Amino acid sequence: MTKYYSAGQPERCPSCGGERVRKILYGFPMPSAMDAADRDELVLGGCEINESDPFWRCLDCHTDIHFESRCEGAAGNRALH
Ligand SMILES: [Zn+2]
Repeated sequence: MTKYYSAGQPERCPSCGGERVRKILYGFPMPSAMDAADRDELVLGGCEINESDPFWRCLDCHTDIHFESRCEGAAGNRALH
């Protein structure tokens, strides 16, 4: 499975090209966050947070997009996946 990376909010899904890419909110959601999720404004990611968790998700094809850190040689690691 291809892993996608972005250094910032992706304007389009790298997999399907859709524009409904949303930030994933981790932690226990506030009621306002639940409302926003209902409106497809963001994605609730649950309470468990890991270093490897994706930052964004495409609402159309559910592709996860990870934050690309500029300081750990992510470009080199990417070639391995
Ligand atoms: Zn997509």
